[in-house]
Amino acid sequence: ELSKSGWLLDITKLKLGENIGEGEFGAVYEGEYLGQQVAVKTIKCDVTAQAFLQETTVMTKLQHKNLVRLLGVMLHKGLHIVTELMTKGNLVNFLRTRGRSVVNSAQLLHFALDVCEGMEYLESKKLIHRDLAARNVLVSDDSVAKVSDFGLTKVVSKAKSDNAKLPVKWTAPEALKKEKFSTKSDSLKEVKEMVEGGYRMEAPEDCPPALYSLMRLCWEQEPRRRPAFNKLREKLEREAGKHSGGEGG
Ligand code: ATP
Repeated sequence: ELSKSGWLLDITKLKLGENIGEGEFGAVYEGEYLGQQVAVKTIKCDVTAQAFLQETTVMTKLQHKNLVRLLGVMLHKGLHIVTELMTKGNLVNFLRTRGRSVVNSAQLLHFALDVCEGMEYLESKKLIHRDLAARNVLVSDDSVAKVSDFGLTKVVSKAKSDNAKLPVKWTAPEALKKEKFSTKSDSLKEVKEMVEGGYRMEAPEDCPPALYSLMRLCWEQEPRRRPAFNKLREKLEREAGKHSGGEGG
């Protein structure tokens, strides 16, 4: 059924380049497919290939400027997932290696908006990412942030149990505790007991108070009190508007 679907790519048209990353199940390479720069994620073992085909099935249905775009898959000594190439790598690395002149408050706000818009789109499709974290956000050549790694993504109605290897630090308390997920649990977090006990991180250095209030809102103990991604986007846009009008920085 894969070949009929149009998502099966021709391996003879792929030029494989350098290794650009290591995933849990294999290496990630850059490459070229029919003149387009691509990333190729290789999955060695057959059992996991099944799981990744599932990931790809989700991806085939998604198209948004802030989601890493799938081009297709190749079956050759395991599975190869071919996506658009995000030349500036993952967001964690980007934030850690660039100085404050690049990673200024305007850029940070821009990344936040990018991620929020991608998540708003998922939310509109009733999909829960379940592994939203900066390491799963990739940065394009023109510095657009896009959400990637849909391996844990579930349709809302099916989002239960199956949480053997959840990313504890980034998972909402009720999701860890009662295995309850919603589009609202796709936000940031700290370690289990402390978070349950009410601990929240302090404001980062130079963080505008309005933005910190927004972060605290996303960290509300009660899921209902957290803004949905569409609300969050409105609030972030308001912040971005304020800043672009003013000093610029
Ligand atoms: P994890 O489960 O730890 O998130 P993974 O097995 O899902 O890892 P990926 O996160 O997909 O693997 O890929 C590992 C690394 O490869 C990424 O952090 C990133 O640096 C690089 N990478 C993955 N996809 C791309 C892409 N499309 N463009 C550029 N680099 C990529």
